[in-house]
Amino acid sequence: MNYDALFAERVGRVEFSGIRKFFEMASRMRNPCDLSIGQPDYDVPAAVRDAAIAAIQAGHNRYTPTAGLPELRRRIADDLRRETGVDTSVLITAGVSGGLSLALLALVNPGDEVVFADPYFISYLQLVNMLGGKPVPVATYPDFSFDAARFDAAMTPRTKALIINSPGNPTGRMMTGQEVAAAADLARKRGIVLITDEIYEGLCYDRPNPCPLKLAPENTLLLRGYGKTHGMTGWRIGYAAGPDRLIHEMVKFQQFTYVCAPTPVQHAALAAIETDVADHRRAYAEKRDLVCRLLSRAFEFERPGGGFYVFPKAPAKHPTGTQLAMAALEREVLVIPGCVFSGRDTHFRISYATTDAQIRRGCDALCGLADG
Ligand code: PMP
Repeated sequence: MNYDALFAERVGRVEFSGIRKFFEMASRMRNPCDLSIGQPDYDVPAAVRDAAIAAIQAGHNRYTPTAGLPELRRRIADDLRRETGVDTSVLITAGVSGGLSLALLALVNPGDEVVFADPYFISYLQLVNMLGGKPVPVATYPDFSFDAARFDAAMTPRTKALIINSPGNPTGRMMTGQEVAAAADLARKRGIVLITDEIYEGLCYDRPNPCPLKLAPENTLLLRGYGKTHGMTGWRIGYAAGPDRLIHEMVKFQQFTYVCAPTPVQHAALAAIETDVADHRRAYAEKRDLVCRLLSRAFEFERPGGGFYVFPKAPAKHPTGTQLAMAALEREVLVIPGCVFSGRDTHFRISYATTDAQIRRGCDALCGLADG
């Protein structure tokens, strides 16, 4: 078989995640210190596990309506109305990734542009490429702040959407209220969709995350999920909320792709909404403090406000993210080079979603590398 002759052009436009190479190397190590993980180290709360099991036992194993369980959609819409004062349409998705792909399917023609901050969550770039669109990353170094003028300057009449992500992956940075307001103004001014990826919204340590929904309700598509906050990344559940016109088209694409989010998990999501993860949030805030304290001796970085990542600058001794990550690998410490999330390779990502002992071990080794 000559698959090269068969494959669609998009096969050549999308690459495997750069993280995989590091995982493969780590899988050969005896005792790696893994600071590369993109999910929490705690398990699903018992009440949520019980709800999923009960749903399966009760026979909730068939398709739900395409847009999701009506009682779950209603509950999310009610909560969002209380939080923002805005009436939204809600679509239950297969994780935030599901919502992202459906939104981009609905918006991006070949050649259309989607603007987002660099460093970025890698799916933004790959999904836009997959659709034949043009990803437009806008550099936000050194402090990762949202400078609306820079984003405005990167936009053209082909721009369809601006994606924001707060707290962010890979930086952990939370946008300020002013920055989110500026993003909402920009989307309104340009007449484009503002996709706000708030998957880490339940893990904010210093203040609530500012949400643009109430500032630009006509433009905003809100994406949230339970995977990260409730330790259920493998259950594939999230939601998209926004203007009915956009959600309606996304439902159409869900019908012919994902069909619906997993049914027992949709039932469990109702329990997840009722299950407070404040203890986890407090524990992760302490991990954030710990990692910042340990790294401050040897690294330059922006203190993260949420999520579980920090994105330090590579030290003079190993001046690129890749050099630093390779040197760390030799000490059996896994971090991810910044080039995986960026057009630059000046930084590296640490995930502190692990035990305090591993955080200490990893940060000690990294500081040792910076010292030489
Ligand atoms: N957005 C961001 C910023 C993420 O970090 C991730 C997961 N790494 C996702 C979306 C995807 O989340 P899900 O597992 O819900 O698809």
